[in-house]
Amino acid sequence: KKIIIAIDGHAGCGKSTTAKAVARKMNYIYIDTGAMYRATTYYILENKIDIQDITEVKKALGEISLRFAINDVTGNIEIYLNGESAESKIRTMEITSKVSDVASIPEVRHFLVDQQQKMGTEKGIVMDGRDIGTVVFPNAELKVFMTSDVEVRAKRRQIELESKGEQVNFEDVLEDLKNRDHLDSTRKEGPLKVAQDARIVDTTNTTIEEQIDIIYQLAKE
Ligand code: C5P
Repeated sequence: KKIIIAIDGHAGCGKSTTAKAVARKMNYIYIDTGAMYRATTYYILENKIDIQDITEVKKALGEISLRFAINDVTGNIEIYLNGESAESKIRTMEITSKVSDVASIPEVRHFLVDQQQKMGTEKGIVMDGRDIGTVVFPNAELKVFMTSDVEVRAKRRQIELESKGEQVNFEDVLEDLKNRDHLDSTRKEGPLKVAQDARIVDTTNTTIEEQIDIIYQLAKE
């Protein structure tokens, strides 16, 4: 029987890499909700929307159309913003440093949560984010909360960004992770927190392969 797997947790602890691999192994659909918040942030920055002005924000949301599709060139699932792949634009430090502010706006959350819930009308999905087990799918059959030591996360993230050609400093990455976790945990709407029935997976000392296996085993229980 197909289920919904909700994966939440701290920034940079390998949620998306793990979730994507679990989905592939189970022949499930993977949905990266962080990409939706990032693409929305990209649109807001590109169009110089004042995020303090809720009328402007609402107007901008009305102009945003998001979907996930396979990129013919890369063969990967990517997020499309108004018909164009936004994948290469949304993971820069610039977007990353602004996304938690945009994600704290209730109207933004309602706009995206609504779309995420529609994607879950068919089971057989792995969705990762911050509020999946608490808000998007409170009835998910499996909820996982991933976390790990913040310095280990920063080191891994630094290596990942550098492998993509972005030169980053360890201290900046560390600050960003701490700052996002703080903003994400303290916002009023859909804060990052451990769902009461979530299984906690600490990835400080695990390899990606081990993380995948832990969640895969939980899904088979
Ligand atoms: O998962 P990722 O690190 O790409 O998410 C980027 C940011 O998007 C998070 O730090 C958080 O502010 C926001 N986010 C959220 N709710 C989600 C997914 C992401 O608020 N479900």
